[in-house]
Formats: sequence, structure tokens, C-alpha cells
Amino acid sequence: MTINPDRVLRDLEELAQLTGNGGGAQRLCWTPTWENARIWLRDKAGQVGMQSDNDEAGNQWLTLTGESEEAIVVGSHLDSVSDGGKYDGALGVLAGLEIGRALAETGKRQSKTFRVVSFADEEGVQFGRSLIGSGAVANTLRLEDIRKLRSLKGESVEELINAYGASIEKFERTGRWLKNARAYVELHIEQGPVLERLGKPLAAVSGTYGADRYQATFSGRLDHIAASPMIGRKDALVAAARVITLVRDTALRLGGVGSVGRCEVTPNFTTTVAEGSSIIIEHGHDDLEVLQRTGRIVRNAIRQIAAEEGVDVRLDDLWSTPPVRFDPHLVSIFEEVVGNEQGKSITIPSGPLHDAAEVAAAGIPTAMLFVRSRDGISHSPAEFTDDDDIRQAVVALNSVVERLL
Ligand SMILES: [Zn+2]
Repeated sequence: MTINPDRVLRDLEELAQLTGNGGGAQRLCWTPTWENARIWLRDKAGQVGMQSDNDEAGNQWLTLTGESEEAIVVGSHLDSVSDGGKYDGALGVLAGLEIGRALAETGKRQSKTFRVVSFADEEGVQFGRSLIGSGAVANTLRLEDIRKLRSLKGESVEELINAYGASIEKFERTGRWLKNARAYVELHIEQGPVLERLGKPLAAVSGTYGADRYQATFSGRLDHIAASPMIGRKDALVAAARVITLVRDTALRLGGVGSVGRCEVTPNFTTTVAEGSSIIIEHGHDDLEVLQRTGRIVRNAIRQIAAEEGVDVRLDDLWSTPPVRFDPHLVSIFEEVVGNEQGKSITIPSGPLHDAAEVAAAGIPTAMLFVRSRDGISHSPAEFTDDDDIRQAVVALNSVVERLL
């Protein structure tokens, strides 16, 4: 078979023209623009004899039937954030399309079935919950939680997704699409600066970070800044500030990532010592033991800091997800292919979650390939990956698929 990465570049451009504007990609899931992308992909697949089916969670499956029902699946997502980038998700789907096209052009039937999946609502913009399509297929969603969500315009999930042929009631049926899957592989832009710093275009991905997100709410005492002595204050903002640097320093010491991205202060007046503060803390790590240890150390330190500052603290767990390790054998294939392609094998974990983590949770052998992002920018029209990097990534992904088929 002959893979032609330039066709991926052309498809990316065509999709950007069709579903974007001056502000970037506008393929918010469950919108007419996203539906246009689904129709466009269906037509592209149809041109090379790949069957396109939308499942009950809005996922789109392109199938090139082989002699056996055992399938190799390549996937990612076509939905974007608003004012999104040209490559996030789309690259993985369109690389899969190109592999399907090249396989079809051989005119020979493969022994295994080849599938491309474009997962619905990876980004989670509409409902504030990401990985809905892949979560449905992997059966990892708590449907009672999904039912409670509301769209940006206030519609219920059921109301909005029904218009696109999907239904929460039927999510569990979507698992059939992975029933015969022997492997799932995904090419994605890195969305971070690591490869750029290493000066190489490609990396095998070992897995995705687990996350531990919780809230610390401090209650102190409101005092006049000028009138109250420094000693004896109960400053809720000082407590929060100490925790913010502690979270950063703990991540630097134990590895992984850790940040406070949100802080609220009451009453937030220029002239008053803060009576209350609330921060949301998030840790991420690819090792569950370290992730849990980090969470314990920081939670204990928060209580200690609160005591030292004379304020009360309440801790509320908000969300957590364990790290996902990709299939060691598949990862080793990617490592070998990456090494052949660029003269040096690189393996890194993924900070952000991806559809691949859900597929792995369903027990399907899974691995990913990252391609270099410029300045680590994503979810922005400034998102950029060099054409030559994309060509190499498509060739590398294809080499892996050829070995698996
Ligand atoms: Zn993505």
C-alpha cells in the first residue's frame, strides 16, 4: 500500500475551510457545524468504499471490512472547542482516513477489518463533561450524572443529542463497536512543549495522567487592613496563598503536575483582610501511588497551614481519575517505529486525557502517538504543527497499523 500524507494535509485544510472561520475551528459537538463535519467525513470515506455509521452516542465509525471481524481501530475526534485549532482531534481522524484510503487503493481485502472512529464530544464544551462518546463506548459513564447535565443553551443532554440521532438510553449498545477490536491507536498533537524542547517531532505515549481535583475553603475573620495589628489576624487569603505555592513546590519535588487554577476571595475588598477564600487544587501524575501520596501530603499540609494561620478549612473532593497505562506491547511498537522514523525513540506520558484512555479502560490494547506542537499551544487558532512533522507522524502511524493488520 502507498500512504500519501499530503492528502492528510489537504483534508485538514478542507475541513478547516468548511467548519472554521477567522476565529478558528468551530466544530462544537452537537451543532450544525459539527454535523457538517460528520457528513463531510462520511462522503470522504464513501469515495473509497468505507462504510460510515453513526452510533447511539454520536460516534462515527468508518469501516473497511476485512476477511475477519477482528478489527484494528484508529481514532480521535472531530469536535473542537469554539475558536479551536486546526489539528486537535482532526489530525488523528484524518490520518486514519488516509490509511483506510491507502488500504482500499490496494484493491485487496485485508485479513483484519480496519476501522476509523471519530468520537463525539471529546472536548466537553457543551455539557462541561469531556469524553462522552468514548466514555459511552467504553461504558465508563455514570448515566445518572450525564442526564443531569445541561448544554450551553440550557438544553438537557437527551434533548440536544436526540437531534443528532443519539440517545443516552441507548449508550450501552455502542459497546458492540469495540467487541472485535484487537487494538486501538490514536495520533494526536502533543498540546505541550516537550517535543519542541527535545527537538524531535514524534513520541510514543506511555499513558495518560491521573488527576485529583479538590477544593479548599478557608474561613477567617474580616478585619480592617489598617486598623488591625499584624499579629492575631485570621487571614483566609494568606492561607490560600501558602497552599498555592505548596502545590507548585510539591509537584516540582514529587513529579507530575500540580496547580491552583481558581481562587475566590470574600469580600475581595481593597481595605479588608480576607474573611474567606476558596481555591481549587489539581494534581496530575502517571503513577497512581505518587498521585495518591501527593494528595495526602498536600491535604495534611493544608490543615497544618490553616491551623498556623488561625483559620478554619474545609476540603471537598471534586473529581479524580486514575492514571491509564497503555498496552506495553503496543507502546513498544510505537517506540520502535518512532526510533526508526527520527533516529531516536522518545516516550512521554500525556498530561491531558484523550479518547484513548477510555478505550484502554474498556480493556482494548491501546497506545498513542504524539506529534510536536508549536509553543505547546492548543485550543486556539494559533495551534500549529509543521507539515513535515505531520507527514512523518502519518507515516509512523501507518507503519504501526500495517504491523497490526
Ligand atoms: Zn483532542
